[in-house]
Amino acid sequence: MRTEVFISGGGVGGLTLALKLVNRGIDVILAEKLTGETPVYKGELLQPKSMQIFDRLGIGEEIRSHANSIRILDLLELSDSLQVEKRSYMDYSILPGRYNSAYMVRHEKLKSIIREAAMAHPNFRYFSGMPCKELTETKAVLQRGKEKLTVEADYFFGAEGRASVTRKAMGITVKPTEYNHHFLTVTFPRRPDFTEGRIISTYNRFLGLFPLPGNEVRSVYLISPGAYKELKEQPVQYFHKMYTDLAPSVDGYVQHITDWKKIQLMIPISYHSPKYIAGNKAILGDAAHAVHPMAGEGMNMAIQDADILGELTADMLESGEKDPVNLQWYERVRYGRASYTLRLSHLSALAYSFPYRPVSYIRRRTFERMEEDQILHFKQMLNTSGMGIWKENTRDRLVQSGLLPRRRPTLPEELKKQKLFRKADDYPWKAEWNL
Ligand SMILES: Cc1cc2nc3c(=O)[nH]c(=O)nc-3n(C[C@H](O)[C@H](O)[C@H](O)COP(=O)(O)OP(=O)(O)OC[C@H]3O[C@@H](n4cnc5c(N)ncnc54)[C@H](O)[C@@H]3O)c2cc1C
Repeated sequence: MRTEVFISGGGVGGLTLALKLVNRGIDVILAEKLTGETPVYKGELLQPKSMQIFDRLGIGEEIRSHANSIRILDLLELSDSLQVEKRSYMDYSILPGRYNSAYMVRHEKLKSIIREAAMAHPNFRYFSGMPCKELTETKAVLQRGKEKLTVEADYFFGAEGRASVTRKAMGITVKPTEYNHHFLTVTFPRRPDFTEGRIISTYNRFLGLFPLPGNEVRSVYLISPGAYKELKEQPVQYFHKMYTDLAPSVDGYVQHITDWKKIQLMIPISYHSPKYIAGNKAILGDAAHAVHPMAGEGMNMAIQDADILGELTADMLESGEKDPVNLQWYERVRYGRASYTLRLSHLSALAYSFPYRPVSYIRRRTFERMEEDQILHFKQMLNTSGMGIWKENTRDRLVQSGLLPRRRPTLPEELKKQKLFRKADDYPWKAEWNL
């Protein structure tokens, strides 16, 4: 069997890449290991940049119709007696233009929207329940039971997530960083008027609540490594109390969880592959980098990789610049951006990782300054959104730590717009190839 592009892995990254390519008329074969839904919870928060990409792919409105928009992330710090001591917020509407909110969408729903849009194209062939077992320079071998299928292609892209066959075939190994905490995660019903994100913490506890559509909320609760086993020995009411202590508003709702079996353990890790390409192969999404979930960036990084790699590959095939060496453009655009996002997520994780009062004090102070200082707030939201990068400088850090006063003037919309990535930043090869 022959195709122009072979994609291994039909998660959010692989599917977005497939849709991008088939929309441009490229012939694509995608092999996915699973036949049904993934058994583990995965990312559900779509950042503004992902929504811009989906709008350009023609599926943005459909995704919005199955999503809950999030403008504000409320950050509540509680006292020892669990009273709100400090309230600050992160506000996406500080971003200029249309892409100024995030969206919570069920992972499998999102995948089905992308997959169905791709499957409407005759140039897309999708094999489910058929893992890619092996890759060489010219072919991929898929296998289901005793049935084997060989696919020849111009390019082979690995989007298999953390255990990537393509990454292995490229001779790349990654070194995961582990954290000093794990999370419990579960979805349960919510009050209809609770629609914005909320992070509630004490000096030694953390609960994140992210409203999904259909009056449900996804929750994450920080625990120490190893605590999951002991917790599961407690009656489930113990779990309810862990939540209602921090968020009385979930009382009457979290009790819908009646069995520990519904509550999953999430072990955060992070890594960054030293490279994304080798010959006619490339990796994207979790195959290339895993990010701590604190900043809600995992899916978004995969979607942004797919956007750049897809646009580049379609341009290579259409313009006669087919030499695989041109895949370097993908790495050039994405590597630095991904490194920066990994760093931000790591720092956000550290802010909640240490159960000590001084750390909680610094965190509170940092959020307070960020809320008061427009430049800090804008930088935080811009960098989180994926719409652009405006790095923090020494002055920002001094303002953040309180050594310099906060800056009062509001940022002009024009200046904010200049900080957004333009098409020339996302697709720089186009200028060189006169496209
Ligand atoms: C347990 C867990 C919890 C997470 N929670 C969050 C979160 O709360 N917030 C967040 O932002 N991100 C979270 N993430 C990360 C986020 O889900 C990923 O970053 C995102 O899904 C990356 O998409 P992807 O397409 O690169 O990889 P994946 O979503 O992992 O998709 C990979 C696909 O490849 C398939 N596959 C694997 N091997 C093969 C093979 N050999 N052949 C063919 N197919 C194969 C898999 O079945 C899967 O469908 C979580 C990830 C995990 C694993």
